[in-house]
Amino acid sequence: MNVSLKEIQAIDVHAHPYLANTEPYTPEEFVRKLSLSVIPNQIPPHYKRVKKQPFPGSNMWVQILIQRLAKKFSCEPTLESVVKERNIRAIDFRKYTRDLFSDAKLSGVIADFGYPQPLLSKEDYADLCGARIWEIHRIEPVMVQLSQDCQNFAEFREKYRANLAGALKQDGIVGLKSIIAYRSGLEIAPKDEKLAADEYEKFKENSYAKAKKLRDYCLHVAMEECTKSDKVMHIHTGIGDGEVVLQKASPSFLIDMLRDEKYENTKVHLVHGGYPWIEEAAFIVSILPNVYMDLSLQNPFSGHGVKRILSQVFEFAPFDKVMYGSDAFTVPEMNWIGVHLFKECFEDVLNSWIDSDYMDSETAQAIGEMVLYRNFENVYRKHL
Ligand SMILES: [Zn+2]
Repeated sequence: MNVSLKEIQAIDVHAHPYLANTEPYTPEEFVRKLSLSVIPNQIPPHYKRVKKQPFPGSNMWVQILIQRLAKKFSCEPTLESVVKERNIRAIDFRKYTRDLFSDAKLSGVIADFGYPQPLLSKEDYADLCGARIWEIHRIEPVMVQLSQDCQNFAEFREKYRANLAGALKQDGIVGLKSIIAYRSGLEIAPKDEKLAADEYEKFKENSYAKAKKLRDYCLHVAMEECTKSDKVMHIHTGIGDGEVVLQKASPSFLIDMLRDEKYENTKVHLVHGGYPWIEEAAFIVSILPNVYMDLSLQNPFSGHGVKRILSQVFEFAPFDKVMYGSDAFTVPEMNWIGVHLFKECFEDVLNSWIDSDYMDSETAQAIGEMVLYRNFENVYRKHL
């Protein structure tokens, strides 16, 4: 007997909301929606593209999406045909989105409403996709807003902590999130209020300022509040869009903070599993009992790489420490292909483990289900 994940529900532990869009996309607009900014802004005017030649800048995952959507729509596997077909269906955007979610058996999402800004409505997004939505509360927009409202660091410090504590009391908010990897990197210094205060004016003037000591301080406060409320601290790790501080984005930089005794009981969720440093993340979750990782972003954006990643991450990561994710952020096709590609790749990997006699098929099936939704339930159970 082989593993089959097709009928198994998936919970996506990291994705973003988007608005309904019933306007048709041109093929170029559609492919830009799929991009983590690899598509050039300006296609050279004399760029020659023959039939079937991939659109400039599109990579393997875009190719896989076109191929799979063509199969679903029974049309030619070209960008132009697929976009034409999806535009017809997307006129009723709510129905189209709900169909894609239910086809993928995608029943719930932890949504990061920190992107896009300004904030979208949770109710609207839940209604659009028909799945359960939980939220995380991003700390950076809070820091920026309060730096505008507060005259001095003492006031900022009080209001910042109160904001986080207040958010964590709300039902449906499962934790906090930091994108410090986009601002000053993951090498977090010990908490130091005096040094943080010294950088307050600089941050007040420019919310994009590195202000590392202040940012490190704010992350510590967020960790403390998550500990108190027993909710989960999400930390962006690894690559992201073009702004990330790549030199300091490996999850290994977090190790000193994560190993600190005072955070022994703090639940931490390494968003994007540190890709491409997934082996570091896998090792970290293997040694620290309350640290978890997801496979969002690398799935589906590494395309065929998802299969390699699944094999590699379980070289060290315990089976109960890894969760499904997509980082879908613009169109529901991303949520849809995320689940399908992941299930397809994981089935291959799990079946190869059965073939190698590492486990029987029931065990392999159970592992598949753990990563798709059971681990999520165990980590977040208290707050569902
Ligand atoms: Zn994201």
